[in-house]
Amino acid sequence: MTIAASVSEASGPSRQQELLTSAKAHLLANYKQPPLALTRGQGCRVWDVAGREYLDLCAGIAVLIAGHSHPTLVSAIADQAGRLMHTSNLFYTDRGAEFAEALTRRTGYPRAFFCNSGTEALEALLKLARRFHYENGAPERTKLISTINGFHGRTMGALSLTGQPKYHDGLRPLVGDVEQVAYGDLDAMRAVIDERTAAVIIEPIQAEGGIIVASDEYLLGLQKLCHERGALLMFDEVQTGYGRTGRFLAREWSGVQPDAVALAKGIGGGFPLGAMVLSERLSGGLPPGSHGTTFGGNPLACAAGLAVLRIVDEEHLVERAEKLGAFAAARLRGMCEDPLVKAHVVDVRGRGLLLGVMLADHVDPLATLAKVRDAGLLLSIAGGRVLRMTPPLVVTESELEEGIELLTRVLRDPPRVAFKAA
Ligand SMILES: *Cc1c(COP(=O)(O)O)cnc(C)c1O
Repeated sequence: MTIAASVSEASGPSRQQELLTSAKAHLLANYKQPPLALTRGQGCRVWDVAGREYLDLCAGIAVLIAGHSHPTLVSAIADQAGRLMHTSNLFYTDRGAEFAEALTRRTGYPRAFFCNSGTEALEALLKLARRFHYENGAPERTKLISTINGFHGRTMGALSLTGQPKYHDGLRPLVGDVEQVAYGDLDAMRAVIDERTAAVIIEPIQAEGGIIVASDEYLLGLQKLCHERGALLMFDEVQTGYGRTGRFLAREWSGVQPDAVALAKGIGGGFPLGAMVLSERLSGGLPPGSHGTTFGGNPLACAAGLAVLRIVDEEHLVERAEKLGAFAAARLRGMCEDPLVKAHVVDVRGRGLLLGVMLADHVDPLATLAKVRDAGLLLSIAGGRVLRMTPPLVVTESELEEGIELLTRVLRDPPRVAFKAA
């Protein structure tokens, strides 16, 4: 007897219910997912199997920079899938060479390494940091410094850099010789960067941590400290990169030039893809045999990456992120002037189209997120109590207005934290 995997075009509330029951029975229960199954997307809209439409200002956590189903990206992936999907890194490919050239030109970094996700890009940074010094006669430089409340991914190396103990629970021991210091505190960095430090790895904006924007002075000071003490400076731009903040890389705001930068999320427009770009000085840091991946940089992913870069340029997505980000931030601040909303929001912050609305202590963030979704708007939560807005960079002013209007209605009377008896 053979058991065929089935794909069904059936839809409607009862089909959705069947799928939810099946998903709950067969998927590992490591996520907290709401009771809906998405099936289709177009631009900034998605639909669930029951037929309900949502305005998607979450964009798969800052990933879908060209929106859902952008025709340029769709046809690039479809054409490449019918031509050459995978070769492994035993061989160069045309798309791989083209994308490396395009990405290095776009970022100003001369070399690129491709992988499949953000956490893999961080693993590459971590290994490059240690191996670079080993190759350069300083094998004692093994210490890695990251920041408290930072987020760098979930594999054991990237997790060890992640400065949020809740993600470490039950998984220790982590990778050794990693230290975390307070974000934004240059004196704390000064106290730990020494002659054994391989690298400082930091987000220019702590995104998962709650949209906390580092000052230019801090990042410039950190660059100076690293230079003086011979440590590498590496930026995790997995979330802030690719135009999200209104610059192609968020590092451009401060002018800091890290030795290497991790990219993922927006880079494939929804296709799994990650990258590390690095300066020429570091180009011998991972010699043949020291690092690699079977899937990373496959021609299908690189075709997606090339199409996304084309869309970024043709549709001026970086400039749009700056302009529309300023528009959305002003509207969100205006929302907080609403006398009913005021008491429930303590801060609006971010840069470009990476925006956060911090809720007051008495507001229940998860219940608020659910109520916003029931109103037809998809957002996400960062840092426990920040509603995060990371729309596709192709979003329009009227879509942002519509989303903020839906949000305003919910925040006039948001769900409260249940009273806990002592
Ligand atoms: C999302 C994220 C990661 C991890 O990326 P994955 O693709 O989920 O592995 C790492 N760093 C930052 C800053 C991120 O936002």
